[in-house]
This record gives sequence, C-alpha cells and structure tokens, in this order.
Amino acid sequence: MTADGVAGVSGTVLVVDDDDSVRQSLVDVLESAGIHALGASSRVDALACQVRHEPAVVVVDYRLPDCSGIDLAREVKDHDPEVPVLLLTGYASLDTAVAAVGQLDAYLIKPVAPQAFLQTIRNALARRGLVSENRVLVERLQRLNAYQALYDPLTGLPNRALLDDRLSQALAAARRTGSTLGVLFVDLDRFKVVNDLFGHHVGDQLLRQMADRLAAARRKSDTVARFGGDEFVVVCPDVGSSASAARIAETLIGELGRPAIVEGVEHRLTASIGITLTGPGAMNQNSETLLRNADTAMYRAKEAGRAGWELFDEAMRDRVVERFEVERDLRLGMETGDLVLVYQPIVALNSGQVVGAEALMRWHRAGHGTILPVSFLPVAEESGLIGPMGRWALDKALCELSAWERAGLVPSEFRLWVNVSPHQLADPTFAEQISELLLRYDVPPGMLGLEIVEDALRDVGATRQVLGALRHLGVGVNLDDFGAGYSNLSWLQELPITGLKIDRRFISTLDVAGETRGTAIVQGLVSLGHALGLTVLGEGVETPAQVQALELMGCDLGQGYHFAYPGSARQLWAMTSQTGVSADGIEVRWESPRSTAGRQD
Ligand code: C2E
Ligand code: CA
Ligand code: CA
Repeated sequence: MTADGVAGVSGTVLVVDDDDSVRQSLVDVLESAGIHALGASSRVDALACQVRHEPAVVVVDYRLPDCSGIDLAREVKDHDPEVPVLLLTGYASLDTAVAAVGQLDAYLIKPVAPQAFLQTIRNALARRGLVSENRVLVERLQRLNAYQALYDPLTGLPNRALLDDRLSQALAAARRTGSTLGVLFVDLDRFKVVNDLFGHHVGDQLLRQMADRLAAARRKSDTVARFGGDEFVVVCPDVGSSASAARIAETLIGELGRPAIVEGVEHRLTASIGITLTGPGAMNQNSETLLRNADTAMYRAKEAGRAGWELFDEAMRDRVVERFEVERDLRLGMETGDLVLVYQPIVALNSGQVVGAEALMRWHRAGHGTILPVSFLPVAEESGLIGPMGRWALDKALCELSAWERAGLVPSEFRLWVNVSPHQLADPTFAEQISELLLRYDVPPGMLGLEIVEDALRDVGATRQVLGALRHLGVGVNLDDFGAGYSNLSWLQELPITGLKIDRRFISTLDVAGETRGTAIVQGLVSLGHALGLTVLGEGVETPAQVQALELMGCDLGQGYHFAYPGSARQLWAMTSQTGVSADGIEVRWESPRSTAGRQD
C-alpha cells in the first residue's frame, strides 16, 4: 500500500536541491508519474516545507548552500523519525560514508536516470506506508493490551487488577474522610450446574447478563468488578451503615434473581452475598483482608441456605481460623502419630467368634484430648485433606495388619475393614493404589475389606469400574450405613459388593417394645442382602436383646458396644483369643464411649 490513507502522512515527496534545473526536473518526473512532489532550495526552505506538508519521503542533495545534506537528513528525521531520506550525490565513493551515517535510507548518484529515480521513490513510499501502518497497529494493540490488563473480556467489567486499585483508593479515601467503606462479595448459587447442564456458551451469556444487571443496579460511586468465575465484588464507598449495605445487597439479590432468558430458555439464578464494612478509621484493614472477610461472609450466606446475604463478624473469622488450625494440626498429626487407628471387633452371630474388625480414626490432639471423627472429618472433607488422610488410614491399617500376621495373631477368615471416603473412591487409580499397598505389605487381598457409603455411589458409572477392579483383586467391599442414605435399590443388583452393614438407627429399634416396623425393616434388609448373595452385618449392637433378634433373623455378623468398644490392637487380639486379658497380663480396657464422646469438641 502507499502512504496515502495513513493518518498524518501525505503521499508527498519533498525534493531539496539548490540547483533549480535538477530540482525541477526531478519534481517533473514525479508529477508525471502521478506522485505529488514539492521542491525546496535550502535547509530553511526544506524544514519549513516539512512542517507544513509532512512529506512521506524526502530527497536531499548532498551539497546545499546552508548545510550538508547529511546534516539536513538528521534534522528531517528529528522531526519525523519514520520518514525515509534519500541522498543525491555526485560521488559513488560516498557509499561507505553513507552507510556509516545511518541516517539515510538510500542514495542516488547524479545524474539520475528517471526510471531508476521513480523506482527508488516508489519503494521508499511503500516502505513508509508499511512503517506507518505498523505503528498504527502497534498503538491499537497497546491500547487493547492496556484494556485487557484492566477489564474482563467477557463482561466488560473491571477485572481483579483494576478492582485492587479501586479498592485501595476507596480504602485510602475512607481513612481520610472517616467514612465507612462496604465491600460486597457476590457469588451466583449453583452456577456450575448451569454450565454442566446447558454448556459454557449459555453460562457465559448468563454471566454477561448478570454483570450488566449488577452494573446497572450499582450506585454511581460504586465499582462492580468480576472477581473470577461466577464471583463479583462491589465496592461501595461511604456506604454509611450496615443497614444500607444490606439494602444494597438485597437490591442486587433481587436484580440477579429476575428470570434471564438465553436461547429461548428461562433461567432463574440466585446469588449469595457476603458483606464487610471497614471499622472506625479502617486502620487495621487492607484490601486483602476486606476481600477475605467478605468472602467468608459469603460462605456463611451459602451455608445459611443461599439466596441471601450475611454481614461479616469476628466470630466468623474465628471459625475460619479454627478450621485452618484443625486442618494444619491434622496434617501434622498424620506424621507425628497424633492420628491413630482404633479397632472394633466384628463378631459372627452364630458362633460368637471375632471374624474381623473395623479400623476407625482417632485424633489425640494436643491440648484437646481425644477427638472423634465427627469433629474432624467434615473439615478434612472440605479442605480436601480427606484424600491424604484416607491414604494414611489405608497405609497404616495394612502396615499393622501385616505385622499382626507375621506375629501369628490373625486367624483364618479374618478381615480388617477400612472406611473409604467418596473422595477416594472417585479417584480412577484407587484400585491400583490398593493393589500396590497389598503388594508392599505382603497382605493377601482376602484379608482386606473396604467400607463405602451410599454417597460414593452417586456417580455410579465411574465408581462401578473401581469397585469391579477391587472385587477382581479379591478385596471385600461393604456398603456402610445401609438404609440411612440415598439408597437406590436397583444399583444393589449391579454393584460388585460383598456385604451390607445395616445402619445402627434400625438396629436400635430392635429391642424397643412395640417397635414392630423397625423390626420388619431389619428383617427385610437381612432378606434382601441374602437374596443378593451378600453378607449382612448389623452395626451399633448394644444389647443382648438386639443380638438375639438379629440372630433369629439370620443376620450373619454383628458389631457394637455390646461386643466391644473400638480399642487398641492389643485389645482386639486379647478379645480374639477370648481371654479378656492380654498376653502380658494387662487388663483390657476398651475405649469408653462416654469418655471419648465427652471430650470431643
Ligand atoms: P461408621 O463407619 O458407621 O463407623 C461406626 C461408628 O459407630 C463408629 O464411630 C463407632 O465407634 C460407632 N459405634 C460402634 N458401635 C457402636 C454402638 O454400639 N453404638 C453406637 N452408638 N455407636 C457405635 P466413630 O468411630 O466415631 O466413627 C464415625 C464415622 O467416622 C464412621 O462411621 C466413619 O464414617 C467415619 N470414619 C471413621 N474412621 C474413618 C476412616 O478411617 N476413613 C473414613 N473415610 N471415615 C472414617
Ligand atoms: Ca464403617
Ligand atoms: Ca456404619
């Protein structure tokens, strides 16, 4: 392309030569080829003409009355660095000099042949055009980069970087003026479901609509930013009181809750909002703590049932800190031995023999006594620590089992049962991990059983493969707490499991006078299990009457305080040998449910 059309640059060629005839003939050559040309006879003339006409190319004679052509070239370039300058010279030997100067883009030896001259000028014009066009593109790109560095491309809202900046400014202003700054953390509820069900393109359109609504509903002074995913932050300078912040939150929740139509389908989204306000003077707060506190409050709003708002308070922070400490100490506990396994015997109801045991976690947390799983497993599940903890429990159980076996303690037909969380079972390599552990500790697969809960079966497709691989290995698999959860009886038929553990809620009804329905359910579950070829265990057996009832129903196994509390390995093997007293004469004292339960926090 030519230089025409590039902003600020004409297609004009300026010819500077004090020899009138040479100058005029060059101008004529250009004009006759349709290229607009101007002439100048001196340095002063030339510079004035450059300022007025912004020529695209300048041709300069080597000798001028008021300076050398090379000096003029330098001045011309000072004014317009991109302009090609061609030198006219009578001396071919100037070749090296020209190259050294570096200011010139080409030179022409006089006398100049018109065709060669035209060609050189055309090349220079073309080069000039490209350079200018390139510059325009680069500038456009730089503007775009600057935009993208600060704005979210999907919604057009300020992004996190710009939010940080605005938030710091608002915080500084709050400190200066003593006003209260509010930060609202907005999170769409169950947005992942929309993405999963309708695809990301629908999700994106919804996010755009929600962003528009937030931007339209904000007060003039507020900043609405996209924090990431389906999270937005609204910065409200001078918000006044918590009541007015709550009103803003309610307005936003109302706006976001209006039906949204994408591709003809109506969607109704809700949002949860966490609010935090700067304290007096906003002295102890920075952008990061404000965002974190608003985020914490948003989680509370979700816990409280979604589609609402919560105001951050210190107690919330304490809970977060407490959770953090539990997580940190648990992580440590796996290494320091504070986390341990206890074992609760499993008894064959017809013979009274111990045929297995269930491994259960206990946490001897320094300064807190012994803590039961109910108090720490939820934190482990939420933080993802359940993965490493589950691996730890399996490793520990198999390590101990192999030691017992080498010591000749393990009777034939004995199985050690280990609880497995849904999280672990969702790992496609889970069966491989088990097989590796069995090899490492040289434990026969028939000695290991895994207890899974119905929750783990929600994604049946993936789980079935893992379960199939486990069965193939020869590992036992029990469905735990059976009847208490989300039972889908049709799965039972298909699942490669070996046994059912009837939830203790049903067992506890067995000796309640007049509780015929509970008894009927247990009988039904036992029959169901047997019809499917499964071993049936009643858990939480606490009284002789419950044992008797289970026996009558033909239930295979029992587990519960009636037989034994969860206890140490020594206690387990003492019981297995039916003496009630361990080999070295120490009286066996099982875990007391009251002492542990009483000490849990
Ligand atoms: P669960 O698998 O149903 O384990 C049985 C629970 O019932 C144990 O509670 C046990 O101490 C208690 N129990 C045993 N007999 C009786 C009885 O006669 N009456 C009553 N009321 N309770 C009895 P624990 O040890 O507190 O464990 C609670 C839950 O924590 C377990 O329920 C299991 O879901 C989970 N858990 C424990 N250890 C592990 C583990 O290593 N991994 C995983 N993923 N979960 C574990
Ligand atoms: Ca269990
Ligand atoms: Ca259970």
